[in-house]
Amino acid sequence: MKKYSEETEKTLAFDREHLWHPYTSAIDPLPVYPARRAEGVYIELEDGTRLVDGMSSWWACIHGYNHPVLNGAAEKQLREMSHVMFGGLTHRPAVELGRRLLSVLPEKLTRIFYCDSGSVSVEVALKMAVQYQRAKGFSHKTRFATIRSGYHGDTWKAMSVCDPVTGMHGLFGSALTPQFFAESPRSRFGEEWRPEDVDSMKHILEEHAEEIAGVILEPVVQGAGGMRFYHPQYLRELSALCRKHGVVLIFDEIATGFGRTGEWFACRHAGVTPDIMTIGKALTGGYMTFAATVATEEVARVISQGEAGVFMHGPTFMGNPLACAVGIASFDLLRESGWQTRVKGIETQLKAELEEARHFSQVSDVRVLGAIGVIELHCPADVGRMQAQFVKRGIWVRPFGRNVYVMPPYIIPSEELSLLTEGMKEVVRLQ
Ligand code: PMP
Repeated sequence: MKKYSEETEKTLAFDREHLWHPYTSAIDPLPVYPARRAEGVYIELEDGTRLVDGMSSWWACIHGYNHPVLNGAAEKQLREMSHVMFGGLTHRPAVELGRRLLSVLPEKLTRIFYCDSGSVSVEVALKMAVQYQRAKGFSHKTRFATIRSGYHGDTWKAMSVCDPVTGMHGLFGSALTPQFFAESPRSRFGEEWRPEDVDSMKHILEEHAEEIAGVILEPVVQGAGGMRFYHPQYLRELSALCRKHGVVLIFDEIATGFGRTGEWFACRHAGVTPDIMTIGKALTGGYMTFAATVATEEVARVISQGEAGVFMHGPTFMGNPLACAVGIASFDLLRESGWQTRVKGIETQLKAELEEARHFSQVSDVRVLGAIGVIELHCPADVGRMQAQFVKRGIWVRPFGRNVYVMPPYIIPSEELSLLTEGMKEVVRLQ
């Protein structure tokens, strides 16, 4: 790797010796690149190298970095209060964000539980489902069903519903609660629906519904478990099955929410409202960790009429005012930005420019939905080597598994998007 200034080299040396990074060895880590600042769609490294961001820092930074409006909202809120406990207190930022969320969430989702991160919001959703079933007299309904290739986070219960192979947590084996895994739908988004896709989940529910509290899945787009886009009809069929079997339906919209797939939320492609939904990531425009679990009136009422009379969860930073204030600003920016046109434009360009890769010998599939573009390889990507090749070309793309993909900030100009797609194709060809 290239040499940076002495000070930066010291920073990197400390980092290498003492800081864990995600999914890399602590004793022989993949290289990390020292970011100095970021603005718009550019991430700048300590040596002045500027990289066009293709990742939105993992689906979150939809408006680009260092946005004056989001900065302003954070600064203003800091001067009022950065945090107060949510037990016994409330505040305008929490309420104003809630009002905004209700204006775009599926109509029946009216009860908002703010929490710290995507994984925690999944824990909250699963706990809600169990408490709901218990309050209805079904205390034996404590397990969950999901589809393969899913990803729901890194905490224990969330891990248990991630794909056992691609979901990164297979290693934990019997330490995880065993759950039910149905085949994921094979009908792709935009293609013909195959009714047999639902059979696997149907059998699970028919045989085990008396043990199952809920079904959790990512609607339409499965992200970190495989970057798959499936047919929305699956969600309509699943919703009917869940109703029939008294099972709570949970959608994880942490990655897909806030316009990424071309709809405010991916469940709108299917016109299906779940009983519980998780949102996070882009909720604060990628500024800080924050999430929410939203539920129907029915779920909230049943839980509150159960033996505890309350939902049993209360994180320290629940409803954090700073995150809410940035969330409000991000929401307003999004609503006023004409994001539908932007996301459509990104989709059209990604489709046009990535198509060529379909014919490369290294490539097994190319797919695009909304502001997500995926080149799937036949073999797993060598992340370290590919990352270096991307950085050399001035772009920030981080592959995982067999997927080389981008989900850029919605504000990306078309020239910069072309830099991403050209770089992806060039680097894939070198593999
Ligand atoms: N669910 C989905 C669909 C996700 O993509 C992620 C994060 N990649 C999570 C849950 C977990 O969110 P967090 O990393 O904020 O805990």
